[in-house]
Amino acid sequence: MGALIALCPDTGRPFETGIETDPASMALTPPCTANILCPHCRSIHPIAKRDFLVCEMVDGLLVYQRAA
Ligand SMILES: [Zn+2]
Repeated sequence: MGALIALCPDTGRPFETGIETDPASMALTPPCTANILCPHCRSIHPIAKRDFLVCEMVDGLLVYQRAA
């Protein structure tokens, strides 16, 4: 499993959503938009599924890949 990461549209900085997922699970999720509280701006951003990243540990390395 990996961590679901969102990118702040205002600062471009990534942050963890607290959701555990993996690319296979995300592939099964239909396109959608989630309102996520951003720790950088402390405001709520609507984040489209295609803009999420999944962060996984692969062979001891953190790998970021697009969730959709
Ligand atoms: Zn933000």
